[in-house]
Amino acid sequence: MKHTSIYLSVDLESWASPNLLEYIQMSDHDIKILDNGHIKKSALECLRILKKYNVKLTFFIVGQLYDWYPEVVEMIANQGHEIAYHTHAHDAATDKETLMRSLHQSKRFIQRFKPRGFRAPRLSITQDCLALLKDYGFTYDSSTYGPYEKGKKITGMVELPVTSVRGIPIGSGFFIGLFGKKILDVYRMLSHNGNSIISFIHNWQILKPEKPSFPTKKYLFTHPHYLPYTVDCKSRFEYIVKNSKIYPMKNLLQ
Ligand SMILES: [Zn+2]
Repeated sequence: MKHTSIYLSVDLESWASPNLLEYIQMSDHDIKILDNGHIKKSALECLRILKKYNVKLTFFIVGQLYDWYPEVVEMIANQGHEIAYHTHAHDAATDKETLMRSLHQSKRFIQRFKPRGFRAPRLSITQDCLALLKDYGFTYDSSTYGPYEKGKKITGMVELPVTSVRGIPIGSGFFIGLFGKKILDVYRMLSHNGNSIISFIHNWQILKPEKPSFPTKKYLFTHPHYLPYTVDCKSRFEYIVKNSKIYPMKNLLQ
């Protein structure tokens, strides 16, 4: 089987972090209790699969994980994966003050791992936030959708967009839920003429949390398009890891 080169990353966050209305006001402490160790368990499961196939990739990590379970982030780094940043507590990167607070809260994480890459929650970022990240030593951003263009920069930051085709964000973990193993055929087709595929999956897709879960039944009722996020993607993740050549995002900077 021909291997496809993809830049698949894991967005590592609490399942309670996609900012459902019922959780958005919760304190860091309460989110940790609600998460109930799932972030750690799912991170270890990702690492187990990646080690099995000797694959190194990029983890976009919420800084709060380093406060909660520092040993998990150390283990990810020790196993040769790239540590990138996904804000402190899945905070918005659409206003500078919020991002600045987030960066401040993640000070220990940032000093320890010196991440170069950033991905904004919900892939939504503003130019002043990009400028702020640059000041904090970040060199690339992956918070937009689009085709990959070598050397593309926005506000002095290299932009590595998650793959989208004709406005369809095919690189989103949503499509791993929707297409299953067939997603690899889509990646193959799109990378046919040497295009780089940039995609992501969440830890809570790879190891499904027990109840309560994201998306909740109530949430699905009003947001039925979230259904692919309820799919257990562990075997899909393993299939992709096994049958493609996966590289860390930083390799695109060379
Ligand atoms: Zn996220």
